[in-house]
Amino acid sequence: MPDLEAECSLDLGCPADEFSAFCDAHPERTVVVYANTSAAVKARADWVVTSSVGIDIVRHLHAQGEPIIWGPDRHLGKYIARETGADMLLWQGSCLVHNEFKATELLQLKQEHPEAKVLVHPESPDSVVALADVVGSTSKLLQSTYEMDADTFIVATDLGILHEMQKRSPNKRFLAAPTAGESASCKSCAFCPWMAMNGLKGIEQCLTNQSGEVLMTPELAVAAKKPLQRMLDFAEVQKQRVAASGDIVKDRTLFANVGAA
Ligand code: SF4
Repeated sequence: MPDLEAECSLDLGCPADEFSAFCDAHPERTVVVYANTSAAVKARADWVVTSSVGIDIVRHLHAQGEPIIWGPDRHLGKYIARETGADMLLWQGSCLVHNEFKATELLQLKQEHPEAKVLVHPESPDSVVALADVVGSTSKLLQSTYEMDADTFIVATDLGILHEMQKRSPNKRFLAAPTAGESASCKSCAFCPWMAMNGLKGIEQCLTNQSGEVLMTPELAVAAKKPLQRMLDFAEVQKQRVAASGDIVKDRTLFANVGAA
């Protein structure tokens, strides 16, 4: 890792021992966790998913009649449960960036820019997701900006992506979704402080000094890799099926960024 201090509120809010006890209390449920979790939490899970492939995997499990434990992000879990109809028991974690987007102020911005399309990451609260034209992973939102026939976009996800959106579509306009209530005197900036720690200097150090190594026991590594590999195998099979059916658009949407959060 470019910086070993670069954490994530989803991981911090999901200690392995507490999550494991939660799973033990519901042994009949299949455990599905998001990629932003520790190796120990992954090792306790049956499946690891990213936001690109999460819906497909939950839909698959639901079709098999499996009730699910989902962790750690409650907003993403609620969104997937609604989309798939799956029986999902949610760990109550949240992302400190996406949790801050505000629906009332977003609605106001939308009214000021009626031509704008609203792009929302599903780690945002329900009320914000309800105002979206597109809901999806970061890669899906980015893809929407150059594929959709619109000149203005309101974006509700980590603002680090705005630079890439602007670079890909220099003639389009990108507005940050509001993160503070109207009367708030203190507002968050929708920048993840931890992701911002992963800078070029840290990458250079990784490459030249081999710093930033993540160490764990071989047993933990093997256990954590199992549910991760299950996701990759699932994605590969789905990809081949989609390619075989000639549905290229669906293929790009679902699998453009398998393995990224
Ligand atoms: S934006 Fe930051 S806190 Fe939120 S999920 Fe990503 S890494 Fe975690």
